[in-house]
Amino acid sequence: MAPAEKGGTRPVQLYGYTEDGLLLKCLIESFDQNRREQAYSEAYDVLQSMLSIEPASYEIFHSSIYKKFKARGVFGEFIMDRLRESLESYSEIKTLGELRYSSLIIFHTNDAAKGRLYLDLWNETFKEMSPNVQELLLFDMKLEIERRMMHRAMAPQKYEKYRMKFIQDSSWLTMEGYCRNCNLGHPLRMQFLQYHERTNFLPNDPIIYECPQCKNNSMHIPTF
Ligand SMILES: [Zn+2]
Repeated sequence: MAPAEKGGTRPVQLYGYTEDGLLLKCLIESFDQNRREQAYSEAYDVLQSMLSIEPASYEIFHSSIYKKFKARGVFGEFIMDRLRESLESYSEIKTLGELRYSSLIIFHTNDAAKGRLYLDLWNETFKEMSPNVQELLLFDMKLEIERRMMHRAMAPQKYEKYRMKFIQDSSWLTMEGYCRNCNLGHPLRMQFLQYHERTNFLPNDPIIYECPQCKNNSMHIPTF
């Protein structure tokens, strides 16, 4: 907290640029392999200090899951390597906030044991959250996934109306299945945690369901 603004009494929060800048500095230093470990360790402290005074659910969750990653020695691999790689390659992510947020939903790995560890720690952390934080966290992730679904929907008008009906139920997701046989999009609901688990295990394969119309196993649901 900084001193009150000149002539005013409102306290000013000193978050944002300063810590994003520190994190960026750590990321740049980590390009040098000899300095990587130290840079990642500093980045951990920066990320933990970024918690707002009244933190959002995802910040509370991140702070807890980062602690577990660090204790298991995978913080660098699970978080920092991915942040560094997204700086190296073309990415739709434009801000550090988005970069940090993008690591919340899905963990892409071809190493099954690492994928399992990630999901176990994710589930363990999730169970430790209060019911209120759990609900807010799921709602936040639901909004993000459904926004991506909306942009990909083959029948967007049908999808958005269906999505609106269930918008308040944070433990369920509204997705669209696209039948390759009928060439039609069908909105449907899935349990959030089931979707999350399946998506993390097989991030590159769509989920396949039976089409309600032609009854073939030809309805594809994207994994985001
Ligand atoms: Zn069909």
